Order: sequence, then structure tokens, then C-alpha cells
Amino acid sequence: MSAPPPPYPGKGQEAGYPAQPPPPQGYGQPYGAPPPAGQPGYPQQQGQTTVVVAQPAVTVVQQFRESPVHTRCPHCQAEVVTATQFETGSFTWIICLVLCIVGCDLGCCFIPFCVDGCKDVTHSCPNCKTVISRYNRM
Ligand SMILES: [Zn+2]
Repeated sequence: MSAPPPPYPGKGQEAGYPAQPPPPQGYGQPYGAPPPAGQPGYPQQQGQTTVVVAQPAVTVVQQFRESPVHTRCPHCQAEVVTATQFETGSFTWIICLVLCIVGCDLGCCFIPFCVDGCKDVTHSCPNCKTVISRYNRM
């Protein structure tokens, strides 16, 4: 008489193996552990490689143009705002010449001499009257 058929997997689960649920838990833990460990390391490596940024170390050079500039006078070492003065320069003469060629030679060619936008700009120190810089449009 062989009565082995009764101990089938189905019957065993119901009756004698209440410890079957644990396996799924144990299987999930080792599987979920690796990802968290690997993620932190990934961004770190990326950050190290992308940090290299080349920045040109250029000292700010003050631009002496048409408007007064706040600077330090090299002569009297005073912090001053330069006094600007418009002077006829080579650019003024070129504009005059161009106007002559175009046909505006009846007085019109002297317009550039009256327009500050065509003249060079001289920056001088209001303290000691020394010419600090000259803005040449050419
Ligand atoms: Zn000065």
C-alpha cells in the first residue's frame, strides 16, 4: 500500500509549511540592496570629471570712451571721475573727407567738427588737470 500521494506540494503548503512566506522576503532584500550602493558612487564620479572649467583670469580694464570714468589718477593718486573733453581727431578728418567725396563739400563737410560723436575724447584728472587717457576712435 503506497500512500505517498497525499504529501503533495499543495497539501504541504496548506498544512505543514507555514514558513513558506519568508522565502519571498529574503529573496527581495538581497536583490534590492545592490542598487542603493551603486547609485551614490555614480554621481560622485560624474561630478569630479565635469568640475574642470577653464575661466580666463582677466583683470578688469577700464574703458575710456565718451563718458567720464571713475578711476585713480596715476599722477596725484586720487580717486576721481575723469573730466572729458572732445577733440578733433583723425576720425573727424576722415568723416570730413568722406562727406567731401560724397558731395557735401559746401560747408557740410565741417559738420563732424561740431559733432562730439566724431571726435576723440580726452580724459583728464579734475584734480591735477593731468591727461589720464585718450579715447581714439580709429
Ligand atoms: Zn590727478
